[in-house]
Amino acid sequence: MSGTLYLVPTPIGNLGDISRRMADTLEQADFIAAEDTRVTVKLLNHLGIKKPMAIYHRHNTETGGRAILNRLQDGESCALVTDAGTPAISDPGEELVAQCAALGIPVCAIPGPCALVTALAVSGQPTGRFTFEGFLAMNKKNRRAHLESLRGEERTMLFYEAPHKLAATLQDLSDAFGPDRPVTLCRELTKLHEEVRRTTLGEAAGYYRENVPKGEFVLVVRGAEHQEEQEATLEDGLLLVARLQGEGISLRDAVKRAARELGLSRNQLYSLAVEK
Ligand code: SAM
Repeated sequence: MSGTLYLVPTPIGNLGDISRRMADTLEQADFIAAEDTRVTVKLLNHLGIKKPMAIYHRHNTETGGRAILNRLQDGESCALVTDAGTPAISDPGEELVAQCAALGIPVCAIPGPCALVTALAVSGQPTGRFTFEGFLAMNKKNRRAHLESLRGEERTMLFYEAPHKLAATLQDLSDAFGPDRPVTLCRELTKLHEEVRRTTLGEAAGYYRENVPKGEFVLVVRGAEHQEEQEATLEDGLLLVARLQGEGISLRDAVKRAARELGLSRNQLYSLAVEK
């Protein structure tokens, strides 16, 4: 029988966020697959755990993944960790989980620290509906296409960003959504210098052009204002009737179709069309 792949989140800054279950799972797994063993060893030392480790990072997903899958299929259990936060969320793991799912290998996710959820909760932006956008691409064309796809997005949008790219990203977001769009910048969450700034994209872009950003950031951008659909008028109906007649449709059928499509009274539209 296959072993289980456990997804074990690790603190995003504060060691106090290690839960009993996270520690127990690391303790009980047959081996730990880590993004960077030097980082994970520090955590394991803190917990007093000694465990064989395998490496699984974004550049060895194929060979590293294959080796982990083989061991899981041989009945060993594996705890997957990354440097910080929840595996598979803008971190290695997504592919391994998909492969386990395809092979019928059980996967168990332990809930725990995750930068995006922590940022959303503290942001003060609407949380009912949101979209996680991860990191914007470095490649200009892909970046533009990504931002273009978010034009008109009404849900709260979350982005991850590294400090050295923050100023440029804020400028691109400001260009895409307008300088007045509210944003919450969540910096160094759970750490000593945690900071939550609620401002606008224009102000934040200007500020970080002048001040070098330090630490890790999640950007929580307010969605676009909801656009109420304009109710169609009889004038709109007449225009549509004329267009349909131009396509060779009879007046009666054109009125019927236009009234149905625009939610207008068929009789009123017909009387007006005959009058004109
Ligand atoms: N899987 C991780 C998670 O669930 O939190 C995210 C890993 S991703 C490679 C790293 C990004 O997460 C950083 O560039 C930053 O945007 C965000 N991040 C991680 N820790 C953070 C923290 N303490 N404060 C703010 N953002 C953080």
